[in-house]
Amino acid sequence: MIEVDSVTKIFPGPSMDFTALGGVSITVKDNEFFTLLGPSGCGKTTLLRVIAGFEYPTSGSVHLDGMDLLSLPPYRRPVNTVFQSYALFPHMTVAENIGFGLEMLNRPKKEVRKTVDEMLDLVRMTEMADRKTSEISGGQQQRVALARALAPRPKVLLLDEPLSALDYKLRKDMQLELKRLQAETGITFIFVTHDQEEALTMSDRIAVMNAGSVRQIGPPREIYDHPAERFVADFIGETNFVGAELLEIEGEGEGFARVRLSSGIEAHVQAPSGPVANGPVTLAIRPEHAWLVEEAQGLLKGKVENVVYFGTDTHFHVIVDGGDLFVLRHQNQPGQMQHLAVGDRVGLQIGRGAGQVLRD
Ligand code: ATP
Repeated sequence: MIEVDSVTKIFPGPSMDFTALGGVSITVKDNEFFTLLGPSGCGKTTLLRVIAGFEYPTSGSVHLDGMDLLSLPPYRRPVNTVFQSYALFPHMTVAENIGFGLEMLNRPKKEVRKTVDEMLDLVRMTEMADRKTSEISGGQQQRVALARALAPRPKVLLLDEPLSALDYKLRKDMQLELKRLQAETGITFIFVTHDQEEALTMSDRIAVMNAGSVRQIGPPREIYDHPAERFVADFIGETNFVGAELLEIEGEGEGFARVRLSSGIEAHVQAPSGPVANGPVTLAIRPEHAWLVEEAQGLLKGKVENVVYFGTDTHFHVIVDGGDLFVLRHQNQPGQMQHLAVGDRVGLQIGRGAGQVLRD
Protein backbone atom coordinates (compact mmCIF):
# COMPACT_ATOMS: atom_id res chain seq x y z
CA MET A 1 0.00 0.00 0.00
CA ILE A 2 1.29 3.45 -0.99
CA GLU A 3 0.40 6.35 1.25
CA VAL A 4 1.01 9.85 -0.06
CA ASP A 5 0.27 12.28 2.75
CA SER A 6 -0.08 16.07 2.35
CA VAL A 7 2.62 16.29 -0.30
CA THR A 8 3.45 19.77 -1.54
CA LYS A 9 5.96 20.65 -4.22
CA ILE A 10 6.93 24.25 -4.75
CA PHE A 11 9.30 25.13 -7.60
CA PRO A 12 11.13 28.37 -6.85
CA GLY A 13 10.93 30.90 -9.68
CA PRO A 14 12.88 34.12 -10.40
CA SER A 15 9.92 36.37 -9.53
CA MET A 16 7.34 33.98 -8.08
CA ASP A 17 7.35 30.45 -6.67
CA PHE A 18 5.13 27.91 -8.39
CA THR A 19 3.07 25.40 -6.40
CA ALA A 20 2.90 22.25 -8.56
CA LEU A 21 1.39 20.13 -5.75
CA GLY A 22 -0.63 21.82 -3.04
CA GLY A 23 -1.06 19.18 -0.34
CA VAL A 24 -1.90 15.95 -2.11
CA SER A 25 -3.03 12.89 -0.15
CA ILE A 26 -3.80 9.56 -1.79
CA THR A 27 -3.74 5.95 -0.67
CA VAL A 28 -3.15 3.34 -3.36
CA LYS A 29 -4.02 -0.21 -2.37
CA ASP A 30 -1.93 -3.27 -3.01
CA ASN A 31 -2.49 -4.77 -6.46
CA GLU A 32 -4.55 -1.81 -7.64
CA PHE A 33 -4.69 -0.18 -11.07
CA PHE A 34 -4.75 3.42 -9.90
CA THR A 35 -4.91 6.35 -12.31
CA LEU A 36 -3.95 9.99 -11.89
CA LEU A 37 -6.16 11.90 -14.33
CA GLY A 38 -6.16 15.60 -15.03
CA PRO A 39 -5.43 18.32 -17.57
CA SER A 40 -1.94 19.21 -18.71
CA GLY A 41 0.08 20.90 -15.97
CA CYS A 42 -2.10 19.75 -13.04
CA GLY A 43 0.84 18.02 -11.34
CA LYS A 44 0.42 14.35 -12.31
CA THR A 45 3.99 13.86 -13.48
CA THR A 46 5.38 15.78 -10.52
CA LEU A 47 3.52 13.46 -8.13
CA LEU A 48 4.84 10.41 -9.98
CA ARG A 49 8.38 11.81 -9.83
CA VAL A 50 8.03 12.37 -6.09
CA ILE A 51 7.01 8.72 -5.62
CA ALA A 52 9.84 7.54 -7.90
CA GLY A 53 12.38 9.74 -6.13
CA PHE A 54 13.36 11.98 -9.06
CA GLU A 55 11.84 14.91 -7.23
CA TYR A 56 11.90 15.66 -3.50
CA PRO A 57 8.71 17.20 -2.07
CA THR A 58 8.74 20.52 -0.25
CA SER A 59 6.70 18.89 2.53
CA GLY A 60 4.65 15.78 3.20
CA SER A 61 5.46 12.08 3.30
CA VAL A 62 5.33 8.99 1.08
CA HIS A 63 5.21 5.49 2.57
CA LEU A 64 5.17 2.08 0.92
CA ASP A 65 3.93 -0.68 3.23
CA GLY A 66 4.91 1.55 6.14
CA MET A 67 8.45 2.16 4.79
CA ASP A 68 9.51 5.81 4.43
CA LEU A 69 10.25 6.14 0.71
CA LEU A 70 11.57 9.69 0.94
CA SER A 71 14.58 8.53 2.94
CA LEU A 72 15.61 6.23 0.07
CA PRO A 73 17.37 7.25 -3.17
CA PRO A 74 15.40 6.38 -6.35
CA TYR A 75 17.39 3.21 -7.13
CA ARG A 76 16.74 1.80 -3.65
CA ARG A 77 12.96 2.20 -3.90
CA PRO A 78 10.97 -0.92 -4.90
CA VAL A 79 9.39 1.21 -7.59
CA ASN A 80 10.00 1.38 -11.34
CA THR A 81 8.88 3.84 -13.99
CA VAL A 82 7.78 3.53 -17.62
CA PHE A 83 8.11 6.81 -19.45
CA GLN A 84 6.28 8.14 -22.47
CA SER A 85 9.54 8.02 -24.42
CA TYR A 86 10.47 4.40 -23.90
CA ALA A 87 14.19 5.23 -23.53
CA LEU A 88 15.34 1.86 -24.85
CA PHE A 89 18.94 1.26 -25.92
CA PRO A 90 18.75 1.11 -29.74
CA HIS A 91 22.00 -0.85 -30.19
CA MET A 92 20.89 -3.61 -27.81
CA THR A 93 18.55 -6.46 -28.58
CA VAL A 94 15.07 -6.77 -27.10
CA ALA A 95 16.34 -9.40 -24.63
CA GLU A 96 19.37 -7.31 -23.64
CA ASN A 97 17.16 -4.30 -22.99
CA ILE A 98 14.86 -6.33 -20.76
CA GLY A 99 17.77 -7.83 -18.83
CA PHE A 100 19.71 -4.59 -18.49
CA GLY A 101 18.25 -3.51 -15.15
CA LEU A 102 18.78 -6.96 -13.67
CA GLU A 103 22.42 -7.00 -14.79
CA MET A 104 22.90 -3.62 -13.12
CA LEU A 105 21.55 -5.15 -9.91
CA ASN A 106 24.23 -7.88 -10.28
CA ARG A 107 21.69 -10.68 -10.38
CA PRO A 108 23.17 -14.07 -11.33
CA LYS A 109 23.34 -14.71 -15.11
CA LYS A 110 21.04 -17.73 -14.87
CA GLU A 111 18.38 -15.79 -13.02
CA VAL A 112 18.61 -12.92 -15.51
CA ARG A 113 18.09 -15.31 -18.43
CA LYS A 114 15.12 -16.96 -16.75
CA THR A 115 13.45 -13.67 -15.90
CA VAL A 116 14.05 -12.26 -19.39
CA ASP A 117 12.39 -15.37 -20.89
CA GLU A 118 9.41 -14.96 -18.56
CA MET A 119 9.11 -11.27 -19.41
CA LEU A 120 9.35 -11.95 -23.17
CA ASP A 121 6.54 -14.42 -22.76
CA LEU A 122 4.49 -12.02 -20.63
CA VAL A 123 4.61 -9.24 -23.24
CA ARG A 124 4.42 -11.73 -26.15
CA MET A 125 7.76 -10.78 -27.67
CA THR A 126 9.61 -14.12 -27.49
CA GLU A 127 10.00 -14.29 -31.28
CA MET A 128 11.65 -10.88 -31.37
CA ALA A 129 14.12 -11.48 -28.52
CA ASP A 130 17.20 -11.08 -30.75
CA ARG A 131 16.07 -8.07 -32.77
CA LYS A 132 17.60 -4.67 -32.12
CA THR A 133 15.03 -2.31 -30.57
CA SER A 134 15.64 0.11 -33.45
CA GLU A 135 14.20 -2.58 -35.72
CA ILE A 136 10.81 -3.04 -34.05
CA SER A 137 7.60 -1.00 -34.16
CA GLY A 138 6.49 1.63 -31.65
CA GLY A 139 3.97 -0.71 -30.05
CA GLN A 140 6.59 -3.43 -29.74
CA GLN A 141 9.05 -0.95 -28.22
CA GLN A 142 6.42 -0.08 -25.65
CA ARG A 143 6.06 -3.77 -24.75
CA VAL A 144 9.83 -4.03 -24.31
CA ALA A 145 9.86 -0.93 -22.11
CA LEU A 146 7.11 -2.50 -19.99
CA ALA A 147 8.94 -5.83 -19.78
CA ARG A 148 12.16 -4.06 -18.76
CA ALA A 149 10.35 -2.13 -16.01
CA LEU A 150 8.56 -5.26 -14.75
CA ALA A 151 11.65 -7.51 -14.82
CA PRO A 152 13.06 -6.58 -11.37
CA ARG A 153 9.55 -7.25 -9.99
CA PRO A 154 8.98 -3.84 -8.42
CA LYS A 155 6.21 -3.54 -5.84
CA VAL A 156 4.88 -0.56 -7.73
CA LEU A 157 5.05 0.36 -11.40
CA LEU A 158 4.66 4.02 -12.29
CA LEU A 159 3.47 4.68 -15.83
CA ASP A 160 3.70 8.22 -17.20
CA GLU A 161 1.38 8.48 -20.23
CA PRO A 162 2.97 5.33 -21.67
CA LEU A 163 0.48 5.01 -24.53
CA SER A 164 0.32 8.58 -25.76
CA ALA A 165 2.84 8.09 -28.59
CA LEU A 166 0.87 5.20 -30.09
CA ASP A 167 -1.80 5.51 -32.76
CA TYR A 168 -5.46 5.04 -31.82
CA LYS A 169 -5.83 1.35 -32.70
CA LEU A 170 -2.58 0.33 -31.04
CA ARG A 171 -3.42 2.39 -27.98
CA LYS A 172 -6.72 0.51 -27.59
CA ASP A 173 -4.89 -2.84 -27.85
CA MET A 174 -2.21 -1.76 -25.38
CA GLN A 175 -4.86 -0.59 -22.89
CA LEU A 176 -6.16 -4.15 -22.68
CA GLU A 177 -2.61 -5.45 -22.62
CA LEU A 178 -1.71 -3.23 -19.67
CA LYS A 179 -4.80 -4.36 -17.76
CA ARG A 180 -3.80 -7.97 -18.39
CA LEU A 181 -0.18 -7.37 -17.31
CA GLN A 182 -1.32 -5.74 -14.12
CA ALA A 183 -3.72 -8.58 -13.30
CA GLU A 184 -1.16 -11.28 -14.13
CA THR A 185 1.76 -9.78 -12.22
CA GLY A 186 -0.24 -8.47 -9.25
CA ILE A 187 2.02 -5.40 -9.22
CA THR A 188 0.41 -2.11 -8.17
CA PHE A 189 0.16 0.24 -11.18
CA ILE A 190 0.01 4.01 -10.83
CA PHE A 191 -0.89 5.26 -14.26
CA VAL A 192 -0.84 8.87 -15.45
CA THR A 193 -3.06 10.09 -18.24
CA HIS A 194 -4.98 13.15 -19.36
CA ASP A 195 -7.31 10.94 -21.42
CA GLN A 196 -10.57 10.45 -19.52
CA GLU A 197 -11.71 7.52 -21.65
CA GLU A 198 -8.43 5.70 -21.00
CA ALA A 199 -8.82 6.32 -17.27
CA LEU A 200 -12.44 5.13 -17.20
CA THR A 201 -11.77 1.91 -19.10
CA MET A 202 -8.59 0.81 -17.35
CA SER A 203 -8.64 1.85 -13.72
CA ASP A 204 -9.80 0.28 -10.48
CA ARG A 205 -9.82 3.79 -9.05
CA ILE A 206 -9.13 7.26 -10.41
CA ALA A 207 -7.81 10.37 -8.69
CA VAL A 208 -8.99 13.42 -10.65
CA MET A 209 -6.48 16.25 -10.27
CA ASN A 210 -6.65 19.93 -11.08
CA ALA A 211 -4.13 22.71 -10.43
CA GLY A 212 -1.99 20.74 -8.00
CA SER A 213 -4.75 19.18 -5.95
CA VAL A 214 -6.84 16.02 -5.93
CA ARG A 215 -10.49 16.88 -6.54
CA GLN A 216 -12.09 13.43 -6.26
CA ILE A 217 -11.00 9.81 -5.81
CA GLY A 218 -13.18 6.82 -6.66
CA PRO A 219 -13.94 3.94 -9.00
CA PRO A 220 -14.67 5.03 -12.61
CA ARG A 221 -18.41 4.52 -12.32
CA GLU A 222 -18.65 6.58 -9.15
CA ILE A 223 -16.63 9.42 -10.67
CA TYR A 224 -18.83 9.40 -13.77
CA ASP A 225 -22.20 8.93 -12.05
CA HIS A 226 -21.53 11.07 -8.99
CA PRO A 227 -19.08 13.83 -9.84
CA ALA A 228 -18.49 15.84 -6.68
CA GLU A 229 -17.91 19.20 -8.27
CA ARG A 230 -18.20 21.08 -11.51
CA PHE A 231 -14.60 20.53 -12.59
CA VAL A 232 -14.89 16.75 -12.30
CA ALA A 233 -18.29 16.64 -14.03
CA ASP A 234 -16.95 18.79 -16.84
CA PHE A 235 -13.62 17.02 -17.30
CA ILE A 236 -15.12 13.52 -17.46
CA GLY A 237 -17.73 12.91 -20.13
CA GLU A 238 -20.28 15.42 -21.33
CA THR A 239 -22.48 17.17 -18.80
CA ASN A 240 -25.19 19.78 -18.72
CA PHE A 241 -25.17 22.28 -15.89
CA VAL A 242 -28.43 23.86 -14.79
CA GLY A 243 -29.25 26.12 -11.90
CA ALA A 244 -31.73 24.96 -9.25
CA GLU A 245 -32.72 25.66 -5.66
CA LEU A 246 -31.78 23.05 -3.07
CA LEU A 247 -34.79 22.56 -0.76
CA GLU A 248 -33.83 19.54 1.32
CA ILE A 249 -31.38 16.66 1.55
CA GLU A 250 -33.17 13.39 2.29
CA GLY A 251 -31.22 10.74 4.16
CA GLU A 252 -27.55 10.88 5.08
CA GLY A 253 -24.65 10.43 2.68
CA GLU A 254 -25.80 8.65 -0.47
CA GLY A 255 -29.35 9.99 -0.31
CA PHE A 256 -31.50 12.07 -2.58
CA ALA A 257 -31.98 15.80 -2.62
CA ARG A 258 -35.20 17.68 -3.32
CA VAL A 259 -34.67 20.65 -5.60
CA ARG A 260 -36.83 23.24 -7.33
CA LEU A 261 -35.97 23.63 -11.01
CA SER A 262 -36.16 26.83 -13.08
CA SER A 263 -39.63 25.71 -14.24
CA GLY A 264 -40.83 25.91 -10.63
CA ILE A 265 -41.27 22.11 -10.59
CA GLU A 266 -39.72 20.07 -7.79
CA ALA A 267 -37.54 17.05 -8.58
CA HIS A 268 -35.50 14.41 -6.80
CA VAL A 269 -31.82 14.28 -7.69
CA GLN A 270 -28.60 12.86 -6.17
CA ALA A 271 -27.49 14.54 -2.95
CA PRO A 272 -24.10 16.31 -3.01
CA SER A 273 -21.00 14.46 -1.76
CA GLY A 274 -20.42 16.97 1.07
CA PRO A 275 -22.43 19.52 3.02
CA VAL A 276 -24.18 22.09 0.82
CA ALA A 277 -26.46 24.81 2.17
CA ASN A 278 -30.07 25.04 0.97
CA GLY A 279 -30.47 27.69 -1.72
CA PRO A 280 -29.06 28.18 -5.23
CA VAL A 281 -27.02 25.20 -6.48
CA THR A 282 -25.78 23.77 -9.77
CA LEU A 283 -27.03 20.41 -11.04
CA ALA A 284 -25.01 18.21 -13.38
CA ILE A 285 -27.15 16.15 -15.76
CA ARG A 286 -25.61 13.75 -18.28
CA PRO A 287 -27.10 14.03 -21.79
CA GLU A 288 -28.09 10.34 -21.78
CA HIS A 289 -30.29 10.92 -18.71
CA ALA A 290 -32.55 13.47 -20.39
CA TRP A 291 -34.99 13.32 -23.27
CA LEU A 292 -37.33 15.65 -25.11
CA VAL A 293 -41.07 15.74 -24.41
CA GLU A 294 -44.00 18.12 -24.95
CA GLU A 295 -43.41 21.39 -23.15
CA ALA A 296 -46.29 20.77 -20.70
CA GLN A 297 -44.78 17.44 -19.59
CA GLY A 298 -41.21 18.66 -19.10
CA LEU A 299 -39.46 19.05 -15.76
CA LEU A 300 -37.43 21.73 -17.49
CA LYS A 301 -38.84 23.92 -20.24
CA GLY A 302 -37.09 25.85 -22.92
CA LYS A 303 -36.54 26.70 -26.57
CA VAL A 304 -34.60 24.82 -29.26
CA GLU A 305 -31.59 26.89 -30.20
CA ASN A 306 -29.83 24.56 -32.61
CA VAL A 307 -30.31 21.13 -34.22
CA VAL A 308 -27.11 19.31 -35.26
CA TYR A 309 -27.34 16.17 -37.36
CA PHE A 310 -24.59 13.57 -36.72
CA GLY A 311 -25.75 10.58 -38.77
CA THR A 312 -26.35 8.08 -35.96
CA ASP A 313 -27.87 10.74 -33.75
CA THR A 314 -29.03 14.33 -33.66
CA HIS A 315 -28.05 16.81 -30.97
CA PHE A 316 -30.60 19.32 -29.78
CA HIS A 317 -29.30 22.46 -28.10
CA VAL A 318 -32.01 23.83 -25.84
CA ILE A 319 -31.87 27.09 -23.93
CA VAL A 320 -33.66 26.23 -20.71
CA ASP A 321 -35.82 28.96 -19.16
CA GLY A 322 -33.42 30.74 -16.86
CA GLY A 323 -30.69 30.76 -19.50
CA ASP A 324 -28.76 27.49 -19.14
CA LEU A 325 -27.74 25.61 -22.30
CA PHE A 326 -28.73 21.95 -22.38
CA VAL A 327 -27.52 19.52 -25.07
CA LEU A 328 -29.46 16.29 -25.71
CA ARG A 329 -28.68 13.45 -28.05
CA HIS A 330 -31.49 11.78 -29.93
CA GLN A 331 -30.73 8.48 -31.65
CA ASN A 332 -31.83 8.46 -35.25
CA GLN A 333 -33.97 5.37 -35.58
CA PRO A 334 -36.59 4.82 -38.28
CA GLY A 335 -39.88 6.47 -37.33
CA GLN A 336 -38.43 8.07 -34.20
CA MET A 337 -37.03 11.29 -35.54
CA GLN A 338 -38.51 14.28 -33.82
CA HIS A 339 -39.41 17.05 -36.20
CA LEU A 340 -38.22 19.91 -34.11
CA ALA A 341 -37.00 23.17 -35.50
CA VAL A 342 -35.00 26.04 -34.11
CA GLY A 343 -37.29 28.25 -32.02
CA ASP A 344 -39.72 25.47 -30.97
CA ARG A 345 -40.73 25.31 -27.31
CA VAL A 346 -39.94 21.92 -25.71
CA GLY A 347 -39.93 20.12 -22.40
CA LEU A 348 -37.03 18.12 -20.98
CA GLN A 349 -37.68 15.01 -18.94
CA ILE A 350 -34.96 13.75 -16.61
CA GLY A 351 -34.59 10.22 -15.25
CA ARG A 352 -35.56 10.03 -11.58
CA GLY A 353 -32.53 10.74 -9.42
CA ALA A 354 -30.34 11.30 -12.48
CA GLY A 355 -29.22 14.85 -11.72
CA GLN A 356 -26.38 15.46 -9.30
CA VAL A 357 -26.17 18.41 -6.90
CA LEU A 358 -22.57 19.68 -7.07
CA ARG A 359 -20.37 20.91 -4.29
CA ASP A 360 -19.15 24.51 -4.75
P1 ATP B 1 1.28 17.00 -18.50
O1 ATP B 1 0.04 16.19 -18.68
O2 ATP B 1 1.35 18.16 -19.47
O3 ATP B 1 2.53 16.20 -18.45
P2 ATP B 1 1.27 17.20 -15.62
O4 ATP B 1 -0.08 17.19 -14.97
O5 ATP B 1 2.05 15.95 -15.60
O6 ATP B 1 1.13 17.75 -17.09
P3 ATP B 1 3.51 18.35 -14.27
O7 ATP B 1 4.53 17.94 -15.29
O8 ATP B 1 3.47 17.63 -13.00
O9 ATP B 1 2.08 18.38 -14.92
O10 ATP B 1 3.73 19.90 -13.98
C1 ATP B 1 2.93 20.61 -13.07
C2 ATP B 1 3.33 22.05 -13.11
O11 ATP B 1 4.61 22.21 -12.50
C3 ATP B 1 3.44 22.62 -14.51
O12 ATP B 1 2.85 23.90 -14.53
C4 ATP B 1 4.91 22.69 -14.76
O13 ATP B 1 5.22 23.76 -15.62
C5 ATP B 1 5.49 22.90 -13.38
N1 ATP B 1 6.83 22.32 -13.26
C6 ATP B 1 7.16 21.01 -13.43
N2 ATP B 1 8.47 20.82 -13.23
C7 ATP B 1 9.00 22.03 -12.94
C8 ATP B 1 10.32 22.52 -12.64
N3 ATP B 1 11.35 21.69 -12.59
N4 ATP B 1 10.46 23.83 -12.40
C9 ATP B 1 9.42 24.68 -12.44
N5 ATP B 1 8.16 24.29 -12.71
C10 ATP B 1 7.94 23.00 -12.96
